[in-house]
Amino acid sequence: PATATKLNTKRSEEIFKEAQELLPGGVNSPVRAFKSVGGQPIVFDHVKGAYCWDADNNKYIDYVGSWGPAIVGHANDEVNEALKAQIEKGTSFGAPCELENVLAKMVIERVPSVEMVRFVNSGTEACLSVVRLMRAYTGREKIIKFTGCYHGHADQFLVQAGSGVLTLGLSDSPGVPATTAAATLTAQYNDIESVKALFEANKGEIAGLILEPVVGNSGFIPPTKEFLQGLRDVCTKEGAVLCFDEVMTGFRIAKGCAQEYFGITPDVTTMGKVIGGGLPVGAYGGKKELMQMVAPAGPMYQAGTLSGNPLAMVAGIKTLEILARPGAYEHLDKVTKRLISGILDAAKETGHAMCGGSISGMFGFFFCEGPVSSFEDAKASDTAKFGKFHRGMLEQGVYLAPSQFEAGFTSLAHTEEDIDRTIEAARTVLKSL
Ligand code: PMP
Repeated sequence: PATATKLNTKRSEEIFKEAQELLPGGVNSPVRAFKSVGGQPIVFDHVKGAYCWDADNNKYIDYVGSWGPAIVGHANDEVNEALKAQIEKGTSFGAPCELENVLAKMVIERVPSVEMVRFVNSGTEACLSVVRLMRAYTGREKIIKFTGCYHGHADQFLVQAGSGVLTLGLSDSPGVPATTAAATLTAQYNDIESVKALFEANKGEIAGLILEPVVGNSGFIPPTKEFLQGLRDVCTKEGAVLCFDEVMTGFRIAKGCAQEYFGITPDVTTMGKVIGGGLPVGAYGGKKELMQMVAPAGPMYQAGTLSGNPLAMVAGIKTLEILARPGAYEHLDKVTKRLISGILDAAKETGHAMCGGSISGMFGFFFCEGPVSSFEDAKASDTAKFGKFHRGMLEQGVYLAPSQFEAGFTSLAHTEEDIDRTIEAARTVLKSL
């Protein structure tokens, strides 16, 4: 077996050292700092297809994909060509442009719950806007979310949140007003009784419920179909707005997002990541009746200087166009299944407790026996072992999300050869642990 070669990260070290004087923690988004896995974060220089190169010119097979957007592969030639052509026509209008209609039509046609859509600039913005909409529509204030789910960094979501909040063990953030946090109730994922109990205890006060239809922000946790159906039923019965936060799953799980995959239609949907094809875009949409409440059609205020930005629209349009081609989701499903079954087999062979799974181009694994059906289960995983595994994989030329509590992503650019190299790397690292 090949012994892991120590990575040369001299330039990454220099750049990150300087960054720590300039940016809080050296980064502009917390998980990038590798705090939970330890060791030197990798500073990127460039990306292409399924690969990324760091500042020391080490090459990695990338399973982060910019945390989701890079589903057609990094720096895709067609997306790049479309962007170059658009740049000549201007980078920002702050006025209506036809590209917004084109992307809106693509979204409306694909996503079952969306009859009308508003574009924003991030997933956070989409989710905070949708909560305002739930409240405006119902005249109620409380919302329900699930422990370990992440919906961006707006005040009302920093209550038992996933992703970096969880990775850094912060669970709740200072600076969030107690009154805001008090209006966010938390239930346990895949546990419909915990949801019903909240509705019962807060009769007529719940504006809506938001969830990741497949969890990615406490690691990869799929829902049961009965759980999603139960949520649909209880929200309908109680007159609460059901929101699928498809920022991660949107256009990744299936052409029509997780709601198409599971056959459960929410009232509203938030989107991000893939929809911008690598540029900053988020979106929320739903039934016309709800969306007509948004200004200037209705009284609920929400706006954005760069919203509907022409470059961002072009990258989104091209990305969704590529994803609509025959075989796209089949490819994602095939390579990702091969990856996760290969890694799990390697764990079994080398005697490590590991569980995991995938749906289409989204996957994850935990260092524990499993099964993991909620964040409460995910907590049982051996995060110290994950940290060692992560570093070992880097040394083998594989870039994984630097946290046990984040899902992984594949792209149309990942080949079976990339997958097999990754599985070999995993076997080598697992043997050494
Ligand atoms: N919702 C979900 C499900 C997410 O995964 C994320 C980001 N990882 C967000 C919301 C927030 O999106 P953004 O980082 O673009 O603000």
